[in-house]
Amino acid sequence: MPASDHANLEQFMEGVKQRNPGQTEFIQAVQEVAQDIFDFIEDKQEYHEAQILRRMVEPDRVVSFRVCWEDDSHRIRVQRGWRVQNNNAIGPYKGGIRFHPSVNESVLKFLAFEQTFKNSLTGLPMGGAKGGSNFDPHDKSDSEIMRFCQSFMTELYRHVGPDTDVPAGDIGVGSREIGYMFGQYKRITNRWEGVLTGKATEYGGSKMRPEATGYGAVQFLCNMLRHSGSEIDGKTAIISGAGNVALHAAEKLCDLGGKVLTLSDSDGFVHDPDGIGRDKIEWVKRLKNERRGRISEYVEEFSGAEYHEGKRPWHVAADLALPCATQNELEEDDAKALVDNGCIAVAEGANMPTTLKGVKVFKDARIMYAPGKAANAGGVAVSGLEMSQNAERISWNQERLGDMLTELMKDIHEKCVTYGDDGDGYIDYVKGANIAGFKKVADAMLAFGVV
Ligand code: GLU
Repeated sequence: MPASDHANLEQFMEGVKQRNPGQTEFIQAVQEVAQDIFDFIEDKQEYHEAQILRRMVEPDRVVSFRVCWEDDSHRIRVQRGWRVQNNNAIGPYKGGIRFHPSVNESVLKFLAFEQTFKNSLTGLPMGGAKGGSNFDPHDKSDSEIMRFCQSFMTELYRHVGPDTDVPAGDIGVGSREIGYMFGQYKRITNRWEGVLTGKATEYGGSKMRPEATGYGAVQFLCNMLRHSGSEIDGKTAIISGAGNVALHAAEKLCDLGGKVLTLSDSDGFVHDPDGIGRDKIEWVKRLKNERRGRISEYVEEFSGAEYHEGKRPWHVAADLALPCATQNELEEDDAKALVDNGCIAVAEGANMPTTLKGVKVFKDARIMYAPGKAANAGGVAVSGLEMSQNAERISWNQERLGDMLTELMKDIHEKCVTYGDDGDGYIDYVKGANIAGFKKVADAMLAFGVV
């Protein structure tokens, strides 16, 4: 069949929209890869005949379930839980669990789709999945969180396993929640096995896992800068978020001589022109993890800093930007402000934080732009190493894991350069990540025939 007989990009996207009505985030994530993949497979008949991309945008399965729990005032609460298993061609399903009121099927389908490409890029044998609930852990007591996690796992345990699907954390799910879920899985199945990653080191967690996403994103940034003959030392950076990813990215930036100017949460952002150094980062870690406070409190502790209620940090002038909060937090105008203010590189610690129009601004301005599926892959990569350690019943030390993370990020950067080099010196990291991520999964799918 000649290439012209196959659905073109518009027809393909029209089909995606029709089959997934109202799922804007999922459609956006597919749109972000479709153009690059269409270009790549134009002359590759076997991918067309096997309908590889068409199959990849249809999750293997979406499990939706009721999560019932009792709050502290003995009221019965009902939430919805999901696990989206997108693709397991190259390894067991793998991807985090998100607890946030914004979670719905569209958000989890976009995350599971992205995860498939991201996990492939790591070079480790992991398929793509994502799960979660619209449960808001924000204002809940510790006992409520425990009861919710136990109820969530009471259904989830049927769908996961160390060779089937290995969830981890994401927004709203940290080591406390992983602990409650792991405990419940173990209790129900009577098996101690590496069914979750992001565990505490006392019971099978990997060293470097908490740091991996943020450190990895900065290492990716470092590789991009090095490739263009530059470095982090002496550069200013704006970071959004104040969670695990943002704070570890900030830490790594400081260690490499960068100056972090901002952090944020869903209420607003702080701008500290003196720089948010190591001590201040430690203070924010305690604020967020122990006191569960808001970033606005920063300005009461550190004079010279300003708090901007209800705003995002993208209009602050800086050399580097790391969106580390959530999807679609950086829009077209924000991207324009970054470019106008002289930003030279953007590395995404969050998943799909930039809107499609924002991405276009970065590409048109030809600044270095690393999409989340490449830049934040360090987290899931060390999760993959946690799976290996659990399977071997050993634990590797911090130094070894640190070296492995550095090597993995270098390797992902090289793959992006290989497939994303526009031939005139500009690296299209989106294209590179999309094609390199796609190729491995697609070739595995071809080998399996029509399944
Ligand atoms: N939620 C993280 C991500 O977006 C980590 C997933 C994992 O470790 O499985 O990649």
